[in-house]
Amino acid sequence: MAECIFCQIVGGAIPAKKIYEDDQVIAFDDMNPQARVHVLVIPKRHLGSLDDTQDSDGALLGQLMIVCAKMARERGIVESGYRVVANTGRGAGQTVFHLHWHVLGGRSFEWPPG
Ligand code: AMP
Ligand code: ZN
Repeated sequence: MAECIFCQIVGGAIPAKKIYEDDQVIAFDDMNPQARVHVLVIPKRHLGSLDDTQDSDGALLGQLMIVCAKMARERGIVESGYRVVANTGRGAGQTVFHLHWHVLGGRSFEWPPG
């Protein structure tokens, strides 16, 4: 989608600190980090949110989760604990409507989340 910020990052039109790439997924540092480690993991294919996924997206969703775990290991936040979040819909705080997971770590977290 031409007007989607994350599609533009996938296409290279907007620069990002890319830290992982495979044929389906990229990961990069969030530009406005909410923790010492704050990585975004996104599919290259445009999907607006988790609500746009179907049964046929199972392999892609699995790979996204695998990459979240990989990023946490690479950034050294496994031992201290980390959080993986997909805000879905405006009411939950989603501001960029291209499916993504936040991988957050390096500080303590509250439960329930705000
Ligand atoms: P959400 O509010 O869950 O939709 O998350 C969107 C995230 O994307 C926010 O944490 C933003 O800081 C981040 N973000 C927006 N634009 C960019 C960008 N160009 N590069 C890196 N992160 C971005
Ligand atoms: Zn997009």
